[in-house]
Amino acid sequence: MCGAATLTAEQRMDQGMQRRATQVAEHLVVRCAGARESTMTDRFDSAKRSEIMSRVRGRDTKPEIFVRRALFKAGFRYRLHVADLPGRPDIVLPRYRIIVRVNGCLWHGHSCRRGRRPATNEEFWQAKIDGNVRRDAQVAAALRMAGWRVWTVWGCQLKRSTELLVRKLEMSRTRQRAASRSRSTEVAR
Ligand SMILES: [Zn+2]
Repeated sequence: MCGAATLTAEQRMDQGMQRRATQVAEHLVVRCAGARESTMTDRFDSAKRSEIMSRVRGRDTKPEIFVRRALFKAGFRYRLHVADLPGRPDIVLPRYRIIVRVNGCLWHGHSCRRGRRPATNEEFWQAKIDGNVRRDAQVAAALRMAGWRVWTVWGCQLKRSTELLVRKLEMSRTRQRAASRSRSTEVAR
């Protein structure tokens, strides 16, 4: 039996994304090598390059965009893929010291049905996923040490987890506004 038949729809989607990322990465290497040989210039403009790199790193995925839209709509502003923080986090809300990670269940080893590892190529999946899980834990520890709160949105709980996040942020915003009001009253006295 074909191993792919045992995958859930979500896992097939994740696999497809990974395959595309690999193809894009290979394409990029070939194009870059070609560029060095011929003209010594970058063959992509920066917009195109960042589009390619975003696909390679699994950025700007649909679930991530869902979370970003919800935050934006609720009036929260964020920074994306911040390179000077551990793990280059997906979404950063500096004002609230919150890091939001949007994790695919299969790739990041969630203990849910979608996170169930495929029965074929067990060694490959084990190495890959265990590596991701280990790295996620190290990155989260480093971020917490640096005073950040880490909020993980799992693919299987996208809507619920995003709603909870927005509510949590709204409470923080209310507290911050109350604090700044009382500060300005003190100054006025
Ligand atoms: Zn899950």
